[in-house]
Amino acid sequence: MRYSKYFIPTLREVPADAEVVSHKLMARAGMIKKLASGIYSYLPLGVVMIKKVEEIVRQCMNEAGAIELVMPSVQPAELWQESGRWDFYGKELLRIKDRHNRDFCYGPTHEEVITDIIRSYISSYKALPINLYQIQTKFRDEVRPRFGLMRGREFIMKDAYSFDVDDAGANESYKKMYDAYCKIFERCGLRYKVVEADSGAIGGSYSHEFMVLADTGEDFVISCDSCDYSANVEKAPLKNEYKPFAGEMKPAEDIETPGAKTVAEVAEFLKVPDAAIIKTMVLNVDDKIIAVCVRGDHELNLAKVKNYFDASIVDFATPAEIFDHTGSPMGFCGPCDIKIPVYGDFAVTEMGNYCVGANSKETHKINVNHGRDFQFEAVDDFRNAEAGDNCVACDGKYEITKGIEVGHIFKLGTKYSSSMNAMFLDNNGKRNPFVMGCYGIGVTRVVSAAIEQNHDEKGIKWPVHLAPFKICVLPLAMKDKDVVETAENIYKNLTDRGIEVLLDDRDERAGVKFNDAELIGIPLRVVVGKKTLADGKVEIGVRSTGESSETAVDDCCEEIVRKLQELSA
Ligand code: ATP
Ligand code: MG
Repeated sequence: MRYSKYFIPTLREVPADAEVVSHKLMARAGMIKKLASGIYSYLPLGVVMIKKVEEIVRQCMNEAGAIELVMPSVQPAELWQESGRWDFYGKELLRIKDRHNRDFCYGPTHEEVITDIIRSYISSYKALPINLYQIQTKFRDEVRPRFGLMRGREFIMKDAYSFDVDDAGANESYKKMYDAYCKIFERCGLRYKVVEADSGAIGGSYSHEFMVLADTGEDFVISCDSCDYSANVEKAPLKNEYKPFAGEMKPAEDIETPGAKTVAEVAEFLKVPDAAIIKTMVLNVDDKIIAVCVRGDHELNLAKVKNYFDASIVDFATPAEIFDHTGSPMGFCGPCDIKIPVYGDFAVTEMGNYCVGANSKETHKINVNHGRDFQFEAVDDFRNAEAGDNCVACDGKYEITKGIEVGHIFKLGTKYSSSMNAMFLDNNGKRNPFVMGCYGIGVTRVVSAAIEQNHDEKGIKWPVHLAPFKICVLPLAMKDKDVVETAENIYKNLTDRGIEVLLDDRDERAGVKFNDAELIGIPLRVVVGKKTLADGKVEIGVRSTGESSETAVDDCCEEIVRKLQELSA
C-alpha cells in the first residue's frame, strides 16, 4: 500500500472524551471516528485491524467445526416475546417500530433468531450436533458507552450457537469452543485469563469469560493466590465461615446524625469503623420490593441477588418505592419495623450492637441486633468477594485484578429451545428440546484490548499477527532518485512475497514519517536515507524493542523476512 494513495488521517490532538490509551491511539492513528456516543465509523486502518481479528476468529471457529452464516441485525419483537426476553431485556435493547407500527429491535445478541432457524430446519437427532456462527454488528444501548470501541453501543461481535441432543453433547460443544477461544486469543498475541462467570441477561447454567488483563479493564477478576481458581467478581462465591454473634446485646437507641448519610459519614460521626455499620439496600426484584443488608465496608452484589431469587430483573428501588414500602427517605433505611422481607449477607451474622438507618431523616439506630430487633428472612452470599477473602476451592486467599472481557461462553441448556418450542426427534422417536450453548467474542473490543496491552508513549506496538502492515518502508528524501528507487524496489520485492507493506511515499519530513510509523505501530520499518545509502545500506528498525541495525541494500529483504519470522514465532 502506498501511503499517498491511502487514507490514514492521523491526529496530533487526542479527542477530549478519550480516557483510555486504546481510544486515544485509535483516534490519533486514524482508525476510528466518533459519530455519536458509542457509535464509530471504522476508517480504513480500523477496518484492516478488524479484519485481522476476524480472520483469526474465522480460522479457529472453522477449525473447531463451526459453520458461518449471517443473521439480520433488525429482529421482530415476536421472537423476543416468545423467548420472554422482550419484557425483561431492559433498556439496553434498542426498540424500533416499522412503518406499520410493528415492534422490532436492533439485535444485541441472536439466541432467538438462531433458535428460530434451527427449529425450522432441524427435526432429527441425525443432524446434530451443529454449531453456527456469524460475525456481525450488534447494538446495545449501554448506560455508559465509553473507552472508544471497548464499550460501544454499536460494535462487532462473533457469536456462535451450538445445538446438541443432550447435556453430554452440549458439554463437548462447550469444551470445543473453550479450546477454540484459547487458540484465538493466543494467536492474537494477548495475555488473558479464563474465569468463571455469571451468565447475566443471556441466562443459562454456567459460563466462562476470557479476560485480557489490563488496568483499564472494567471487570474485576478474582483469583486465588494458591490454586488456579478464578472468577469474575460478579460470580466469585464466598464461604459462610462466620460464627454467630455471642457478645452481650446492648439496648438499642435512636440517635440523631445531622449531616451524616453515607457509611463513611456515619462511621466518622459515631467514631466507629465502617464494618460496625450495616447498609440496608432496598431492591426491586421482578417488581417485588425487598431489603438486603450488607456490612458497611462490603459491596452488594446484584448478580448474586438476582441468582438467589432466580429473578429476571433486579434494580435499586426508586426513592418513591423506598418511601412507599419503608416510610424512609432515601439513604436512611434500616431493617427494623419495616414491612418488607429483609435478607442478610453471611458477614452480618457475626455482627452485633451495630448501627443501621432508623427510617427517618438524619437518624440512625445504634446497638441493633438481628434476632432481637428484627429478623432476617434468610442469610446468604450477597456481597462482592474482595482481596484477602478466603478462596472457595482451597485454603488460599483471593487476589483481585482488572480485566477486559473479550469473550464469553455460556452453556444455555434448554432455556431458549423450551420457551420457543424448538424440538427434535431423538433416536427413540421422542421429542426433546435442543440443548444449547452460545459463545461470543467482541471483535472490536479485541482490537482495543490488544492496544491496551501493546503500546508505549509513541503509539501502538501491534503483535505481528494483528499488525495491519508488517513492514513500513520510509524513503526519507523524496526528491533523491536513488532513495526513491531503492525504497520502491524494497517495496516491490516484499510485496511480491505476499507481505503487507506500507510505503510512505508522501513528500513529508523524516520526523513526520517516523512519528506516524510509530503511532500506527507497524512491527518493522526500513529507513532509506541518503546518508546510509551512500554506503549501500538501509536501516531496519523493530518497533517492539526499539532496536535498529544497518544492512546492505542487497541483503535487506532477506534480513527483513528473517526478522519477521523471528517476531512471528
Ligand atoms: P459486558 O459485561 O462487558 O457488558 P456482556 O457480558 O454484556 O459484556 P456478552 O453478552 O457476553 O457481553 O457479549 C459477548 C462479547 O461481546 C463480550 O465478551 C464482549 O467482548 C463483547 N461486548 C459486549 N458488550 C460490548 C460493548 N458494549 N462494546 C464492545 N464489545 C462488547
Ligand atoms: Mg453488557
